[in-house]
Amino acid sequence: MTRKSDSTSIDTVAVHAARPVDPGTGAVTPAITLSTTFVRDADGSYPHGFNYTRDDNPNRAALEHGLARLEGADAAVMFASGSAATLAVFQTAAAQGDIIATDAAYHGTLRQLRELVPQLGARVRFVDTTSLDAVRAALSEPAALLFVETPSNPLLDISDIAALAGLAAARGTVLACDNTFATPVLQSPLELGADLVIHSGTKYLGGHSDLLSGAVAGRASTWMEQIRMLRSATGAAPSPFDCWLLQRSLPTLPLRVRKQSATALQIATRLTDHPALETVLYPGLPGHRGHAIARAQMRGFGGMLSIQVRGDAAAAMGVAARVELFTRATSLGGVESLIEHRASIEGPGTKTPQNLLRLSVGLEDAAELIDDLEAALSAV
Ligand SMILES: *Cc1c(COP(=O)(O)O)cnc(C)c1O
Repeated sequence: MTRKSDSTSIDTVAVHAARPVDPGTGAVTPAITLSTTFVRDADGSYPHGFNYTRDDNPNRAALEHGLARLEGADAAVMFASGSAATLAVFQTAAAQGDIIATDAAYHGTLRQLRELVPQLGARVRFVDTTSLDAVRAALSEPAALLFVETPSNPLLDISDIAALAGLAAARGTVLACDNTFATPVLQSPLELGADLVIHSGTKYLGGHSDLLSGAVAGRASTWMEQIRMLRSATGAAPSPFDCWLLQRSLPTLPLRVRKQSATALQIATRLTDHPALETVLYPGLPGHRGHAIARAQMRGFGGMLSIQVRGDAAAAMGVAARVELFTRATSLGGVESLIEHRASIEGPGTKTPQNLLRLSVGLEDAAELIDDLEAALSAV
């Protein structure tokens, strides 16, 4: 007989691990605990384990327990956004040494590495983490942290987590992996040897484009302790309501992500060799340069793909202007399909090609989404 607390199936864990039945009331669905402060006993102790919501809160604690289970971690620390989570990891690293970071990542993460981390006195060395030779060379100088994002936003580059973990461990460097695009449903970086997993919970974990949050998960370590301390000290904590929304979202995470991933593969396959496109970037395509690694380390290729339209920024914008089912908006991982011209939101200096559109595939009918894109592309 499988008990809720020891299931190893991600479907079961997603339903139960962040949503315990309330022992006080018997409520099956968690209540939202808005109180910022918690009663002390006469002897000064905290009988329920909570003290002040910046430090800890029942909704957040349950969520952290659930996310840790999903990622195979000892602990998770929830943040107010994915950006707050990455910064806490970089702050922790900066106090100890250099950061070696992928040059293909979410543009807000790259901005932190370029503009904020140097202010903390740490050196950031950017490398192409799809090249093990480049990473090996970078690691010949000591570094506190190796940071990777795979699949990467928005180029869908794939880095080999197990190989990078081996290189980093041999030099005493901590490996952190942004798992936002893959989610714990499709990829388990800690199992592959990474030390820390980072999420923008705003995306697939939330799944409904209605909350901001972030997370760091890992084994029990001084890094995790420092990251939790930084969350309390900087106040980068998510609200009880956002945590409650996440408690409500996690049970459907596996269903949503598997369907989004299956539809994205259908779309990418159908658009391959489309005359209006220069290329389709999706790790599930056999022609993608990271396909073999993605097959080995992922359980599906995710709901994100990018297309490069033949022509310039205006040609790409034109395609985005003509779609009907896809909504023109930034962000990703929600139930609705989104399309976005990335270079214009990332701004000057971006490496994202001007003709690139990033697609976040939602839960709509796959054939209708394909029809929508083909109609928009037929006018290129
Ligand atoms: C959106 C995103 C982030 C930043 O998360 P926010 O919740 O917007 O702060 C970090 N990494 C990746 C891969 C993202 O897509």
